[in-house]
Amino acid sequence: MKLNVKNIRYVSPDDWRVLTATEQGSRNHSLVPVPLITQLASLRSGGVTKCISSLAKLNLIAKVKNAKYDGYRLTYGGLDYLALHAHTKSSTVYSVGNQIGVGKESDIYVCADASGTQLVLKLHRLGRISFRTVKANRDYLRHRSSASWMYMSRLAAIKEHEFMRVLHREGFPVPVPVSQNRHTLVMSLINAFPLRQISAVGDPATLYAELLDLIVRLAAHGLIHGDFNEFNILISEQETDTGGVALVPTIIDFPQMLSISHPNAPFYFDRDVACIKRYFSRRFGFTSDDAGPFFADATRAPIKRLDVEVEASGFSRKMAKELESYMRDVGVDGDAQGDGPEKEDSEDDSGAEAEAEEAETEVLQHEHDDTEPTHQITSLASGMTVLD
Ligand code: ADP
Ligand code: MG
Repeated sequence: MKLNVKNIRYVSPDDWRVLTATEQGSRNHSLVPVPLITQLASLRSGGVTKCISSLAKLNLIAKVKNAKYDGYRLTYGGLDYLALHAHTKSSTVYSVGNQIGVGKESDIYVCADASGTQLVLKLHRLGRISFRTVKANRDYLRHRSSASWMYMSRLAAIKEHEFMRVLHREGFPVPVPVSQNRHTLVMSLINAFPLRQISAVGDPATLYAELLDLIVRLAAHGLIHGDFNEFNILISEQETDTGGVALVPTIIDFPQMLSISHPNAPFYFDRDVACIKRYFSRRFGFTSDDAGPFFADATRAPIKRLDVEVEASGFSRKMAKELESYMRDVGVDGDAQGDGPEKEDSEDDSGAEAEAEEAETEVLQHEHDDTEPTHQITSLASGMTVLD
């Protein structure tokens, strides 16, 4: 399910119509009959046949035989293209570069707008089977159509974008949300390394206090991150007024975010706190004498209820429930949860690989092929040690 943007320039306007028609048809049909595609695309039938064959060749749609009729379904590749096409048309994304992260449930790419500003494209892949729970997934997913994986991935993207939007507005250190389409979202690129890759910090106590303060501030705004760990905390360096260097955290990855009113909220709050405590103790040899923070204290007098706001606007309670039960059923439980703390980085989680590489960029439109911006994450100044 790797994103291959190379072929996007070969998709003609008629092909886009047929691809869009297939997507529309799949709302009510797990395989979309050709006459329906023809009707929805409103093209000559001869024209549709040609488009279908070129889309199938590019693996954007796939033929499915069924007892009653032959039809087509949209593939994940087709969904990727539709989302990218929408981002391109709205002038959000101009080019796509290196993959900088592969999670179990998402792919992360550096991309850029037409002015060359680097951004991040996150594609949610909730149908991708987690290797840890292969058996459970297989039993569960057998009864699911690919359309529902796409729907769930879309829910995850909407949720992430909504939370990023309100958190950014309230001044929390999160990426700037740029846009969202289908199962994808575009956000600012944070020039930083995951905490996981930092082997030493000069002053762990300050960073530790700041991270716990973030957990408390989130709760005071009605929210619990739910996956607050060393993979989802990006650390960058910033010069201080006094000429020193401060480590600045940015929090990412919000599909599991939950409300402080959730029945299991205290459990997730404590788990987020415990995660930081454990990590600081093991990695930096730092332990605090304080027992807290505690859920009851953090939520006693909320400053604002962002959970309520999001529920009322872009991401309803019904959507939240659907996504939550799906994630639970397929065993989605965060980046590091379930991993033994001693476990070495798996290849999947080493988001830094692409950083030093010369970037490859794919321009999404024909016209501007000669002005490809390059993507490179500038490495951070000295002062912190990057593993391997
Ligand atoms: P997943 O849900 O798969 O864990 P994340 O949102 O946590 O996805 O992203 C995975 C990795 O991609 C992160 O650990 C980080 O290295 C990188 N990443 C994600 N978003 C950004 C961003 N906005 N800027 C820089 N790096 C990012
Ligand atoms: Mg993550």
